Amino acid sequence: KGKKQAKSATKKFEQAGVLGAGIMGGGIAYQSAVKGTKTIMKDIAEPALQLGLDEASKILDKGMKRGKVSSKKMAATLNNIVPTLDYKALENVDIVIEAVVENPKVKGIVLKETEETVADDAIICSNTSTISINALAENLSKPERFCGMHFFNPVHRMPLVEIIRGEKTSEETIANVVAMTLKMGKTPIVVNDCPGFLVNRVLFPYFAGFSKLLLDGADFVAVDKVMEKIFGWPMGPAFLLDVVGIDTADHAADVMADGFPERMKKVDNDPVTLLYKAERYGQKNQKGFYNHG
Ligand code: NAD
Repeated sequence: KGKKQAKSATKKFEQAGVLGAGIMGGGIAYQSAVKGTKTIMKDIAEPALQLGLDEASKILDKGMKRGKVSSKKMAATLNNIVPTLDYKALENVDIVIEAVVENPKVKGIVLKETEETVADDAIICSNTSTISINALAENLSKPERFCGMHFFNPVHRMPLVEIIRGEKTSEETIANVVAMTLKMGKTPIVVNDCPGFLVNRVLFPYFAGFSKLLLDGADFVAVDKVMEKIFGWPMGPAFLLDVVGIDTADHAADVMADGFPERMKKVDNDPVTLLYKAERYGQKNQKGFYNHG
């Protein structure tokens, strides 16, 4: 008694919705579309939608140049992404993946608005990096159909998706989100809720250590060179922060500091916060630790 029953998926995922067409939303929409799901991509501004579509086109272009994507596949994938500014377009989706800014208040409003629009049995997920799924679930009247579905950047290349089970998430929801993750060609792991889940509980202490090293006088270019060229990681911490987005990383670090005040307290004059205040958001606006573009 009390044991959770393993359930099987009940949905075919013919239609999905993605909220936010930024770095992650654009990537998630591409990944869902390329695997044959009609994907409604909603944002609040036309230029943002265009960025999301451009991101999908760029990935497909690269694939075509490498001979991995046919022109037919490219057309079918782009045809599967339906950009919109209107919630109504989400009326028939099986699942919504929320990927708007990493701000609990904004996410709360967006999740509430989503629940008012979608079908009663549609699944609602958040791609939050750090915010507690239980806290976000409080915005919903049916928290059993809600969980975290956390992709990594760049979505089309990173295999892992963390599925975060909230206290009220039903086993049917988890089974369906596992099925959608597999349909998208990704590898799911199911984890319990806490700020940062699994990967970011490892990654953010690394970023915090990097910030402290810089405050002790280290040069970020030199640290990146060591971590990438000599230690052998795909990129160093400064470059990774630019890829993640300085704004997203700074907001996420605040959530981690709130969740683990003793372990994850931010340092005064954290270089990441200073860059954020200077509006250097990383690759997304061509300037972060590095100048891009
Ligand atoms: P981003 O800043 O690139 O994009 C956010 C998008 O949300 C923008 O296009 C913005 O116009 C849109 N938006 C804002 N308010 C909205 C609303 N009310 N309705 C619809 N759209 C709205 O951010 P991102 O890096 O794509 O991050 C999105 C989410 O994904 C965050 O929760 C973040 O923590 C998470 N995430 C980010 C990364 C990463 O590496 N950047 C990795 C995993 C998860």
